[in-house]
Amino acid sequence: MTTTHVDGYLRHIMAVCAEDRSGSVADYIPELARVDPDGYGLSLCVHDGHVYSEGDGVVGFTIQSISKALTYALLLTRIGRDEVDAKIGVEPSGEAFNEISVDDNRRPKNPMINAGAIMATSLLLPPVRDVDQATVDRVYGELVEFYSACAGRRLTLDEDVYRSEAQTGSRNRAIAYMLDSFGVLDTDPEAALDLYYRQCSLLVTTVDLSVIGATFANGGLNPRTGRQVLAQEVAQRVLSVMTTCGMYDGAGDWVSSVGLPAKSGVGGGILAILPGQLGIGVYSPRLDRHGNSVRGIDTCRHLSTDLGLHMFNLT
Ligand code: GLN
Repeated sequence: MTTTHVDGYLRHIMAVCAEDRSGSVADYIPELARVDPDGYGLSLCVHDGHVYSEGDGVVGFTIQSISKALTYALLLTRIGRDEVDAKIGVEPSGEAFNEISVDDNRRPKNPMINAGAIMATSLLLPPVRDVDQATVDRVYGELVEFYSACAGRRLTLDEDVYRSEAQTGSRNRAIAYMLDSFGVLDTDPEAALDLYYRQCSLLVTTVDLSVIGATFANGGLNPRTGRQVLAQEVAQRVLSVMTTCGMYDGAGDWVSSVGLPAKSGVGGGILAILPGQLGIGVYSPRLDRHGNSVRGIDTCRHLSTDLGLHMFNLT
């Protein structure tokens, strides 16, 4: 397809999916409820780094749980797979993203639910009980550095969302303290939570998500900057866990119908990846009951069917 054809095709599927106004915007904090519910963007980054983008491709929204895939990658890079596996499982939970679920070894079931993500941020911090603010700031700085290297540009924080996440985070606090009560957190639960709220509140666009996706698709090589930002085996592991756990309790339906490793966030973003080929970023803030973007899912379904992107496509 030529560039004009691709642009025309993306506009076409967006026009089809835009008719669906079902679902509702996340409202657990007022900052998220304030977004335009009709916002809609779609970007595709192909293996040479070219980005096709339509709609609100440069509108910033908070990355939310899509961050879980990136922090998992950073943690694997930092401490290696064996140490990560000893603390966080890789089994789909079959439960909601904020469910307080752990396995028989008191490990969070996977890194894509809140319990696993908070465990992941705790493991980025030093294993001491009193972590000072300067240390959390330093680790956060390294985290932003890594996310930005994947996106190919400097990402920034939505301060209002961050403040609200921290003020209203009873559920996440409960998860962190439950892990702490099991004796599996080596660091200060508040520091782990602070890092988690900050990572969720980073602003991205669908262009950013598509470039992050293409970086993972290319085995860790960012096609726009030419930088190897993570190891191939880390990318492979993250893609595997995204496939089984990235869409929460909607994962089975997603893999059957769309067939791409993916991660969603309650900000309305979805990151989907075709290994070896391309990254897809889509944004539309109305969510289904699992917390996944309604139009985002529909858009990916169209892309997958029309372009034969299902990873088990046998035709
Ligand atoms: N910050 C949100 C939370 O922890 C992220 C959840 C999500 O995107 N699913 O509840």
